[in-house]
Amino acid sequence: MPRPPQKRILTGMRTTGAAHLGHYAGALRNWVDMQGEYECYFLLADVQAFSTHFDDPQRIVESVREMVLDWLAVGLDPTKQSNIFFVLQSQIQDLTELTTYFSMLTPMAYVERNPTIKSERAQYGERAGNLGFYNYPVSQAADVLLFTPPPPHTDGDELCVPVGEDQLPLLELTNDIAGWFNRTYDRVFLECTHRLSEVPRLMGTDGQAKMSKSLGNVILLSDDTETVQKKVMSMYTDPTRLRATDPGHVEGNPVFMYHDAFNPDVAEVDELKDRYRKGRVGDVEVKRKLVAALNAMLDPIRERRDAFAGDPDIVQEVLRGGIEQTRAVGGETMQHARAAMYIDYPKLLAPQTVAT
Ligand code: ATP
Ligand code: MG
Repeated sequence: MPRPPQKRILTGMRTTGAAHLGHYAGALRNWVDMQGEYECYFLLADVQAFSTHFDDPQRIVESVREMVLDWLAVGLDPTKQSNIFFVLQSQIQDLTELTTYFSMLTPMAYVERNPTIKSERAQYGERAGNLGFYNYPVSQAADVLLFTPPPPHTDGDELCVPVGEDQLPLLELTNDIAGWFNRTYDRVFLECTHRLSEVPRLMGTDGQAKMSKSLGNVILLSDDTETVQKKVMSMYTDPTRLRATDPGHVEGNPVFMYHDAFNPDVAEVDELKDRYRKGRVGDVEVKRKLVAALNAMLDPIRERRDAFAGDPDIVQEVLRGGIEQTRAVGGETMQHARAAMYIDYPKLLAPQTVAT
């Protein structure tokens, strides 16, 4: 009898800072929606953070706590739901081992020509010149595939990765690696599926293509009302528009993109767009309405965050639980992987039977 199907999620964030609106729209909202259907592993990628922030361990470590609080605040709660785990990457040695094996199978050229790697190299410059940076797609493949449902796989098994658009080329490589491993050794890994959110890429407040911690163009989930107001009021809008009476561009304008992503009052947004295109509304009014919508959305998140931050044990408790569960699940995957590669050495390492 095949075992019942297993549906798992693995996804995560680098601990390079607290979560921002891009994470919320591109990832966290999706995670919250999906948490009922899957066994969920949410990874705090502190090791991967070192690939570009190797000289700033303090920031990486402090961000772990911030991020756990952010995740709890948006409604992911491992203390209430037994199918959710927060996984602290550096504490899972199996990930390091699996990364090493996968790196043997991965042609260098696949990493070098990966579009995500190319654009991040351009973004980070020399910071991303280290060998560990080039290997992070391989380590990310290990992050995902460690959570493969146990082989032999059964119909209905799934390993799903909810992500933003920037991650898709990396998931393609992950599935290449799964295929190389399975064909070279034995069928251990299940190819992953993915789910994109409704806002796969949120622009930065400065109009750059992506809101990103490392670009400093973010609104944090933990920003207070005044900070949100200040950041929105100085946001980039339509550079071709000099006066409120000039017809403006809605497309490509981050203020409207944020309205679309976060303002639930669709009629208000449509009316603002219409007036903006006709030159009948100023940027200030459009921004003020955005401030109100964002603060209404963030208020309950802030409240929950404050409540969790006041609990002295919760961060430690969820991290411990996630580490324990991952060591069990990952340990099982590693046994299959080592056996497929013949490096479980069953004979060599079996206990000796001593003749009497
Ligand atoms: P860093 O600059 O340190 O890489 P980041 O802001 O890009 O930070 P990551 O930890 O790399 O954040 O991304 C975590 C997840 O959030 C990924 O699934 C990514 O696709 C998603 N994400 C990050 N930024 C955005 C964004 N601006 N829009 C949509 N999704 C995003
Ligand atoms: Mg990133």
